[in-house]
Amino acid sequence: MREVNVKDISDAVRDLSIETNCVLGDAEVSYIKKMQDVEESATGKEILSMLLENAKIAREEGIAICQDTGFAVVFIELGQDVHLVGGDLGEAVSDGVARGYTEGYLRKSILSDPIKRENTGDNTPPVIHLTIVPGDKVRVTFAPKGGGSENMSEIRMLKPSDGIEGVKDFVVERVVKSGGNPCPPIVVGVGIGGTFERCAFLAKKALLRPLGQRHSDPFYADIEEELLRRVNESGVGPQGLGGRVTALDVHIETHPCHIASLPAAVNLNCHASRHGERII
Ligand code: SF4
Repeated sequence: MREVNVKDISDAVRDLSIETNCVLGDAEVSYIKKMQDVEESATGKEILSMLLENAKIAREEGIAICQDTGFAVVFIELGQDVHLVGGDLGEAVSDGVARGYTEGYLRKSILSDPIKRENTGDNTPPVIHLTIVPGDKVRVTFAPKGGGSENMSEIRMLKPSDGIEGVKDFVVERVVKSGGNPCPPIVVGVGIGGTFERCAFLAKKALLRPLGQRHSDPFYADIEEELLRRVNESGVGPQGLGGRVTALDVHIETHPCHIASLPAAVNLNCHASRHGERII
């Protein structure tokens, strides 16, 4: 067994909290640049330039890309040959979030109770998705999730007879109904299959895949391409003000499902499609 101290995981979460909120990934930046040539609307072009300028300032000055620095969503892939030492994993991750959001002067957006609505003051607790995997490493992926795009997400328990056409129509409908609320150009995460909660998780996980990387199954890769085309033909455009560039990409993740079910979930991410990882 390889020993990993949870303090190292906490430090990684602290650093990623600041890094992901202040530095838009190279792939995201280059996609938005590329889309400037695709966009035909003058307003849309202007918005894409402003997004690039905003990302540049954030990176250079070490300030947040957006005032909404998000819910701290932390994916941990824990190698089964790792022995965690030094304390409680959940507390260590939470401590990393608290330090990152406090030391990075990032907005604290989390309420201790959804109805009583009192701010916890340090952006904790995070949402932690823990997966046990082979090996002796720990992969920590940090993905702060803004409320505007999260609120436009949806899960539907479709009928098996709805088939893939039902799934596609649901995805396009969700994007069009969302309009400018998720701050387009968006990244569209789609979960298909599994149970109710697995399907929602898949849609979130789909947002982590690098832009432009297609599903390994050509069947779903083709559907990703088709959905991207349909979404971008919808006319929603940058910030919902019309144009050709509504989405940067569409990613689908799938899971085996019950014979009576066809769950489908859509999780939208905004142009500030933030995520980063460390391997310990
Ligand atoms: S959806 Fe994204 S860009 Fe829009 S306010 Fe929220 S975090 Fe910021």
